Amino acid sequence: MNLSKYIRNIEDFPKAGVRFKDITPLLANPDATVYCLQQLVALLEDEKIDKVVGIESRGFFFATLLAKELKAGFVPIRKPGKLPFNTLKEPYELEYGMDALEIHEDAIKKGERVLLHDDVLATGGTARAACKLIENLGGEIVQCNFLLEIAFLKGVQKLKNQNVKSLLKY
Ligand code: 5GP
Repeated sequence: MNLSKYIRNIEDFPKAGVRFKDITPLLANPDATVYCLQQLVALLEDEKIDKVVGIESRGFFFATLLAKELKAGFVPIRKPGKLPFNTLKEPYELEYGMDALEIHEDAIKKGERVLLHDDVLATGGTARAACKLIENLGGEIVQCNFLLEIAFLKGVQKLKNQNVKSLLKY
C-alpha cells in the first residue's frame, strides 16, 4: 500500500513557510491505519516490549494501538502541567525559544524495555527530550519509531545512540 497518499501537505501551517504533514487522512482510513500498524510492528522484529511511550498528542494514536498489539503498557509523555501525578521534566529547544516535556515518575520501571513512538520526526528535539525522560527513569529504549521522517531536518542526528525507524521519509 502507498501510505504517502494518505499524508496531506498543508502549506504555511502552523506558520508561514512551513509545510505541515497532516496524518488525519491516514487515521480516517481503517485499511491504511491497520496496514500502518502492521508495518510499525514489523519494524520491531519480534523484540519484547514492556511499555510503548507516545508523545503528545499525535503520537498517542499509534502508540496506543501499538501497545495493544504488543501486549505492552501505554505511557504518555505530555506538555508541562498536563499530567496529574509527580513528574520528571525535560526542557528542549525549539526554533524560537524553549519548551518541555513531562512523564510520570512511576511510568517506567528500571530495566523495562521501551518503544518510543511519535507521528513525525522533524528536527529531533522532541524525541531526544522524550528519550532522556525514559532513560532517566531507567528504561531501556529498544526503538524509536515514527510514521514519517522529514529527512532534511536531520532529526536522526539528535538521536545518535538510538535505533531509529520510520515508515516514510520525505
Ligand atoms: P521536532 O522536535 O522533531 O522538530 O518535531 C517533532 C514534533 O513536532 C512531533 O511531536 C510532531 O508531532 C510535530 N511535528 C513537527 N512537524 C510536523 C509535521 O509536519 N506534521 C506533523 N503531523 N507533526 C509535526
